[in-house]
Amino acid sequence: MKVKIDADLCTGCALCTDSLPEIFVMADDVAEVATPNVPANQEAAVQEAADDCPAEAIIIE
Ligand code: SF4
Repeated sequence: MKVKIDADLCTGCALCTDSLPEIFVMADDVAEVATPNVPANQEAAVQEAADDCPAEAIIIE
């Protein structure tokens, strides 16, 4: 699984960075992906973060 963030959609709410700091980090006012190649044991949590993102800015590939 790969993950990325659409910086044009992200509102910087920090929900994903609070819940998965090893995957998502804040950069200026938006989140960015620190670990684009998601480890298998984090895939469910990343999917949940994508589902929970209020801006639907987390894109799983
Ligand atoms: S949860 Fe979504 S809107 Fe909030 S910081 Fe993460 S990517 Fe951005």
